[in-house]
Amino acid sequence: MKTCDLPAYTIADLIRTKQLSALEVLEETLERVNQVDGRPGEVDAPEASSEEDLSTIHAFTLVTEDYARRQAQKIDQLIQDGNDPGPLAGVPYTAKDIFTVKGIRSTAGSKILSNYVSPYSATVVERMEDAGAVMLGKVNLDEFTYGSSSESSAFKPVPRNPWDTSRVVGGSSGGSAAAVAAGEGAISLGTDTGGSIRHPASFCGTVGLKPTYGRVSRYGLIAFGSSLDCPGPLARNVTDAALALQAIAGQDPRDATSAAVPVPDYLAEMEKEVRGMRIGLSEEFFRVTYFDAESMELVENPIDDQIREAVFSAAGFLAQLGADIVTDVPLPHTKYGVPTYFVISRVEASSNLLRYDGVKYGYRTAESIKDLLELYRKTRGEGFGVEPKLRMLMGIYLSAAQFDKGYYQRALKARALMRGDFETIFDPKGKFRLDALLTPTAPSTAFPIGSVYGDSVLMQYSDQLTATTNHAGIPGLSFPVGFDRDGLPIGAQVLGPDYSEGSLLRIARAYEKVTEQEAWRSLKPPLVAALDS
Ligand code: GLN
Repeated sequence: MKTCDLPAYTIADLIRTKQLSALEVLEETLERVNQVDGRPGEVDAPEASSEEDLSTIHAFTLVTEDYARRQAQKIDQLIQDGNDPGPLAGVPYTAKDIFTVKGIRSTAGSKILSNYVSPYSATVVERMEDAGAVMLGKVNLDEFTYGSSSESSAFKPVPRNPWDTSRVVGGSSGGSAAAVAAGEGAISLGTDTGGSIRHPASFCGTVGLKPTYGRVSRYGLIAFGSSLDCPGPLARNVTDAALALQAIAGQDPRDATSAAVPVPDYLAEMEKEVRGMRIGLSEEFFRVTYFDAESMELVENPIDDQIREAVFSAAGFLAQLGADIVTDVPLPHTKYGVPTYFVISRVEASSNLLRYDGVKYGYRTAESIKDLLELYRKTRGEGFGVEPKLRMLMGIYLSAAQFDKGYYQRALKARALMRGDFETIFDPKGKFRLDALLTPTAPSTAFPIGSVYGDSVLMQYSDQLTATTNHAGIPGLSFPVGFDRDGLPIGAQVLGPDYSEGSLLRIARAYEKVTEQEAWRSLKPPLVAALDS
């Protein structure tokens, strides 16, 4: 096994005990990137050719080799001098290209930021570096994180699923999930506004953790929906996700919405027993409800049986370990998750995108212009792709004074009702007294590239099972629970009350341990397996 396939905790141990150097691990990981990634995404570049389709995954927008070598050397030096290199010593990681990193291009997957080199780093990036992690590069995403397949990025080719390169990686942290799954870094930093960490994690067979809103600083994160955005880790196993959360969590004076809540010892929390924990299942999370524009009716469809079975089987394992499984938990407002998200996220997105004007930073039209207004118009017309334009139009429409009551205020009320649903089931003195809710992460497994892209409403329904978490501000952790008949990963998620990341990690870790010997656990993405043989 190559060091790039080892867990982060093993890599850090080997480096700390001088059995490996950070530089050695880095070189092996860069070699993996060379073998499986292909061309990094670039603005206006052609899509992948059919030959590339089968052999490469295009997770990156930028490989920061020199930057990484300098960091790795620094870690090796610290160790040589007898200093503590940190809990993630020499662990290679990637950052979704939505985080700013000082001196490095930070694009949000958009042409409008394609030349933007940040003068400062995101807090989470600084904290990963303080913990000793080594950033390999920036990974691709949906433009400004708007999407569930990573196909809306202006940087082509778009990422491809390591388990089947004709399929999408999910989104919007798709490059993160693909990179982690393929051994291109042990950890990746992603963001989750409506499901963007958990969704690609489920499509690529990785762990993905969306922390409680405010648990992790948003400083240096290029904003989408400021009341919903949460940075968090993706990793190949639960322990690595816990280690990464430990490194990045905690109050940050530069983000006024970051919470002054002490950060527990997640590794210790994670290793406790699940015996006696109350874990709920809700039928609301095993169907998709959507508005059919032709019949003008709400239509309900059950999710794929294979996904349902995988989640129920996970519940069975947890029951064996002594957890109490509570079925038929009501969360009646779940079906409003996506419509409400449509309103709130678009209003916040349109407001956050106003700053890109061709004046302060980022792309500026090369055409001649006669006045400031034309500069704005041309810059924004050329710089933004279809998805941001759609979202701005809708956001501006919805924020108009005459629609405020009908849409935005109503959406805020629906949001409060969804929060109320969760408060009821997690109330320690209530009827359900749940520690966590176990649900599928996504209504489907990875779909073929091109099959949904272009229908932004259908694409949005990928978030049906994740968006209510963001509305409520609570944490959610997605973890692999098997494969479907096409060999595609299936993800389940556990949701819990505010700041319950420790219990969510514990449940996922207990499941991981008890299924260690299951045959599907030894499967590897074909292009990684091919390198071993
Ligand atoms: N798929 C969702 C969207 O398109 C989620 C995005 C996100 O979580 N950043 O808005």
